[in-house]
Amino acid sequence: MAVPKRKTSPSKRNMRRSHDALKVTSFQECPNCGELKLPHNLCAACGHYNGREIVSTEA
Ligand SMILES: [Zn+2]
Repeated sequence: MAVPKRKTSPSKRNMRRSHDALKVTSFQECPNCGELKLPHNLCAACGHYNGREIVSTEA
């Protein structure tokens, strides 16, 4: 099995981890109910996507 020749330096390790803290910050308003939802995702509040109801939210 291939094994790294040298230990990763703290500098290189931290450079690699510099992108780990990025998180999802983009939200869109649902056109149906106005809740904030993730783009390209089903609305968690009303179950609509692309103008249609995909998941029924009434019990
Ligand atoms: Zn909605």
